[in-house]
Amino acid sequence: MSHSADLHKRRLAAVARGVGSTISSYVAQAGGGTLTDVDGREWIDFASGIAVTNVGNAAPKVVEAVRAQVERFTHTCFMVAPYESYVAVCEQLIELTPGSYEKRAALFNSGAEAVENAVKIARHATGRQAVVVFDHAYHGRTNLTMALTAKNMPYKHRFGPFAPEVYRAPMSYPLRDGGLDGAEAARRAIDVIEKQVGAGNVAAVLIEPIQGEGGFVVPAPGFLPALAAWAAEAGAVFIADEIQTGFCRTGQWFASEHENLTPDLITTAKGMGGGLPIAGVVGRAELMDAVHAGGLGGTYGGNPVACAAALAAVETMRELDLASAARRIESILVPALVAINDQDQGIAEVRGRGAMIAIELVTPGGNEPDPLRTAAVSKACHDAGLLTLTCGTYGNVLRFLPPLVIPDADLHRGLDILREALRN
Ligand SMILES: *Cc1c(COP(=O)(O)O)cnc(C)c1O
Repeated sequence: MSHSADLHKRRLAAVARGVGSTISSYVAQAGGGTLTDVDGREWIDFASGIAVTNVGNAAPKVVEAVRAQVERFTHTCFMVAPYESYVAVCEQLIELTPGSYEKRAALFNSGAEAVENAVKIARHATGRQAVVVFDHAYHGRTNLTMALTAKNMPYKHRFGPFAPEVYRAPMSYPLRDGGLDGAEAARRAIDVIEKQVGAGNVAAVLIEPIQGEGGFVVPAPGFLPALAAWAAEAGAVFIADEIQTGFCRTGQWFASEHENLTPDLITTAKGMGGGLPIAGVVGRAELMDAVHAGGLGGTYGGNPVACAAALAAVETMRELDLASAARRIESILVPALVAINDQDQGIAEVRGRGAMIAIELVTPGGNEPDPLRTAAVSKACHDAGLLTLTCGTYGNVLRFLPPLVIPDADLHRGLDILREALRN
């Protein structure tokens, strides 16, 4: 029996079934473009642990910083005995996020926790309760963030009751909304908000600038700026959930920059820690500082080892100019995927930005989502050693999230596997 098969057997007897895995091989080692499993098999990494290892796995600076930090101290709790690296990570968040106004930041452990805290801050600062989210949105798996997330299976099914005062508005989804332009799609969403919630009740408008789990949906140009302008007018807090899109993933430090957005608050996690768990909320000082001392925090939030990793990850992103690297990945992936589709491979759309690229698969000759073929293509990729992920409300989107440091050769090898998988 292979080591992986052996481990899988142990896993089935020890790990709860509700925690799934994309592949059933077990990892021994990983680097900047490949993973090696415990049986010595190599995998090309088009997943980055779900957009986390933007700087690559075991990135040298991150390894070094973590090693140095664990030798000094591992945990004091910032709420008990503070340390410099927490402050330094907040300074980096303030500097790197769009918006030149005065900002503050706070650190947490996971994306969902950052979103929960952004909502707490928005509600506290505005004295209002309603939170507006969008179709296809994904914001996490905790109780509040399940309510914010759109898709029932697998995220919400039988996990209710959900938190109240969450309202869903229609998203701009150019492939599937009848070709509304950004302004029209925004008007449609705003109409729902004004009629069903009431502008004066809205604490926050929360949106992913490019949707992640929902299908890498890139809203039509103008949609996000129109929503942000409406929120400003209504006195609501505009929150960009950049947990998946942040830290160079889309070819800018933050995806909001593609449309010159300056969100009131931004949530970050995933790529931020170079593989260690850390998250943040950053934004306007008057909102962040509205909350009383002790109202925000958590035992591990901004753990010193995770802070050291985040500082090293950011340094790596700067030094290697990983925003440019992401744009370069786009310039290789997108033309190759478009060329594949010229051979009539049932791809309705190639979309995304930077190293956050997806194809949406549909039935032959139609526009019907084809989740079965998507799963089959993904499985064929896995069988051939390419780690890909699927996503989308209809389960018919194949997404590609390589580490931003991936060598060109691995990118091309991955594309070759994908081409074959689609052909068969
Ligand atoms: C992954 C993700 C989250 C949740 O992050 P966790 O660290 O898994 O809690 C929230 N929002 C978006 C956009 C994400 O991609």
